[in-house]
Amino acid sequence: MTPAPVLSLAAAVTRPWDAIVVGAGPAGALAARQMARGGARTLLVERKAFPRHKVCGACLNGHALSTLAEVGLGDLPASLGAVSLQELRLATRGACARLRLTMGVAISRELFDAALVQAAIEAGAGFLPETTAHVEESCESARSVVLQHEGDTGQIAAAVVLAADGLGHGCLSWLPQFDRTARDGSRIGAGCGGTLHSEAYEPGVIFMAVGRSGYAGLVRVEGGRLNIAAALDRQYVRHTGGIGPAVEEIIRQAGFPEIAGLGMNDWHGTAALTRRSGRTAVRRLLLLGDAAGYVEPFTGEGIAWALASGASVARTALRGISGWSSGLETEWTMAHDQIVGRRQRLCRLIAAGLRNRWMIGGAVRLLEQMPTMATPILRRLNAPALTGTPPG
Ligand SMILES: Cc1cc2nc3c(=O)[nH]c(=O)nc-3n(C[C@H](O)[C@H](O)[C@H](O)COP(=O)(O)OP(=O)(O)OC[C@H]3O[C@@H](n4cnc5c(N)ncnc54)[C@H](O)[C@@H]3O)c2cc1C
Repeated sequence: MTPAPVLSLAAAVTRPWDAIVVGAGPAGALAARQMARGGARTLLVERKAFPRHKVCGACLNGHALSTLAEVGLGDLPASLGAVSLQELRLATRGACARLRLTMGVAISRELFDAALVQAAIEAGAGFLPETTAHVEESCESARSVVLQHEGDTGQIAAAVVLAADGLGHGCLSWLPQFDRTARDGSRIGAGCGGTLHSEAYEPGVIFMAVGRSGYAGLVRVEGGRLNIAAALDRQYVRHTGGIGPAVEEIIRQAGFPEIAGLGMNDWHGTAALTRRSGRTAVRRLLLLGDAAGYVEPFTGEGIAWALASGASVARTALRGISGWSSGLETEWTMAHDQIVGRRQRLCRLIAAGLRNRWMIGGAVRLLEQMPTMATPILRRLNAPALTGTPPG
């Protein structure tokens, strides 16, 4: 297939498409690549200009790495200069546990996501950046999508649409059957967009500062830059005077080194994190990645969930191009639950424990004395996915 590279809105609306993928995060970019490799004329639509900053802890666990290997992109993180992870340092007021990591890498989302988009383009997908998509109701043979780029609007249709537009699946806001509400008391995500350096934070270590009202993860990514991301109670953010001061306080209370000017840096917040979409499939529309539901970032699994669903959705979606049946909706709902839903249950349990001050303190003190107690949990979080994707 002739590659359909970065497109303009005018070019995208004149071409025929079998599949439209909304959102170029790990879920959407990998899904677009797999669809294009399967022979589908695929358009990947992204709201932002790429490369773009994304609020994220920037860690790929063993599960994420095994999915990349499964689809033939196993060398990608190393080729981008990803930093191997050897230790998780978990600290709360008065206690610090050092847990050995045997797999996982740190890589900035700017670089990683752009490389996945490039892989999709090389596989033959068209890429339409800086364009916001809204999915419309389905008709018998297709589902249409309205595209907005600056002041211009266009409409395209395809046999299959994949919604991979992240938390809250805003591209589905015109469809009443999708729930966009977050769970009560859900935390918000936060990330530092500015360039930060601190030699006090060694490369290869995830520094996780845990407080009762939130937690912050710090890690060195390619080029030595420090990446910081956090999950915070909204009330705590209000009480401390903003995201920056809230993160600064959590880091200080955990006893990690101070970082000059951190509170005043360029902080970005996210929508409320914890939510489920209610449905992961309707006629000619499949949801994947955060768009299908998210818990919290503490266990560092979101990219792995996104990649696993992006790698496996093509098996169902490609068959939907030649003819849709409700069986495909059931198939994706069940596959998604098996690939992602079950793994999210452990994360949900841990997230509940993180709301309890005594449980946090007790757990970190216990792990400080007996770090190997964390081994079964770390092994489970890193376990490969069974996506059943044919090798890349
Ligand atoms: C604080 C924090 C720390 C985290 N740390 C980690 C970690 O260390 N490791 C890990 O594995 N996971 C982590 N995660 C989770 C991880 O970031 C997400 O799970 C992952 O990005 C989900 O990928 P996705 O492709 O589903 O969505 P996203 O990466 O959110 O991508 C969605 C894309 O869709 C685009 N978009 C949105 N709306 C539209 C629209 N209408 N039209 C077109 N495009 C649109 C967006 O611009 C975006 O590029 C963290 C999350 C948070 C909040």
